[in-house]
Amino acid sequence: MEDQLRDQLNRPLRDLRISVTDRCNFRCRYCMPAELFGKDYAFLSQEQILSFEELTLLVREFVALGVKKLRITGGEPLLRKNLPDLIRQLTAIEGVEDIALTTNGVLLPQYATRLAEAGMKRVTVSLDSLDDERFRQMNGNRSGVQAVLDGVDAAAAAGMQVKMNMVVQKGVNDQDVVPMAVYFREKNHILRYIEYMDVGNSNGWRLEQVLSSKQIVDMISEHMPLVPVAANYKGEVASRYRYADGSGEIGFISSVSEAFCSSCTRARISAEGKLYTCLFASRGFDLRTLLRNGSTSLDIRRAIYDVWAARTDRYSEERATNTQTAAKVEMSHMGG
Ligand code: SAM
Ligand code: SF4
Ligand code: SF4
Repeated sequence: MEDQLRDQLNRPLRDLRISVTDRCNFRCRYCMPAELFGKDYAFLSQEQILSFEELTLLVREFVALGVKKLRITGGEPLLRKNLPDLIRQLTAIEGVEDIALTTNGVLLPQYATRLAEAGMKRVTVSLDSLDDERFRQMNGNRSGVQAVLDGVDAAAAAGMQVKMNMVVQKGVNDQDVVPMAVYFREKNHILRYIEYMDVGNSNGWRLEQVLSSKQIVDMISEHMPLVPVAANYKGEVASRYRYADGSGEIGFISSVSEAFCSSCTRARISAEGKLYTCLFASRGFDLRTLLRNGSTSLDIRRAIYDVWAARTDRYSEERATNTQTAAKVEMSHMGG
């Protein structure tokens, strides 16, 4: 079945992002602002979220349709109880070539060894500033910088490859762009700068708050000259650079200034089992009902096939002319 599966823009299905929880121990202003995600917020119940068995069954069907790479995300995925058990189940699926985790890092000292033992090879840790005060302002005062750096060290010590993600917001943390580059060059971890995006409805995004990758490259080049590096593979999301002396690597994810929808091979499933074919979707396809109403695995595969085959998403390419009025699903819910 997977050989023919292409969406309406001829894109195959290759990557799956799996949100294992919609909860988070941070309240980053650009993702889950505290005033909207307060103590009365209705997070998903245990019953609503997919079990590890349900997720494993689903992933098998996605793999049968062409998925090769998995990324575990959330919310904060390390809040999901017994996550290493899920990782063990997923890495055992034949056809899964790569599995990675995106995390805010603070729980890594507790879980890194177990994750590595379960087969996790790579983690991406999000960190937006090396300045404690600014970082606390950005994450809703939930963590200082050192707790994240301890998580990074724990992941590296457990033998996992570590990449760093930094979301850059003009007027908020642009002064951290160069210090972050210097620090992680020395630490020898790849740092990726992410343009601030208009995900969800709660962060009040404005184009003026976006610092483009080009502007970031220029800022860093003034201190440490950069040279572009060829992509690792077709459709790689980050454009990569090395420092001119051959050391280090950094990447840029330019979802706003240089949309990459034409090569987007990524699907997402939320913790409650909705399938989304775009980060900016306003609706998902309910796979949980199929999982729980006695549908066969072939029925489920067929449903995923049909959703992907009908896909026309190219939100970022259309952003400037977009007239979408339907509310978008929050990134913490869908999985970032
Ligand atoms: N909690 C984990 C974390 O922060 O790494 C995983 C989930 S988080 C939604 C995944 C990634 O999305 C993080 O690197 C985060 O910085 C990024 N992100 C969240 N909101 C964003 C936005 N508005 N624009 C760009 N990136 C965003
Ligand atoms: Fe939590 Fe990650 Fe969103 Fe920050 S970006 S609020 S750490 S889910
Ligand atoms: Fe893929 Fe949607 Fe992002 Fe375009 S906007 S790259 S289709 S997730």
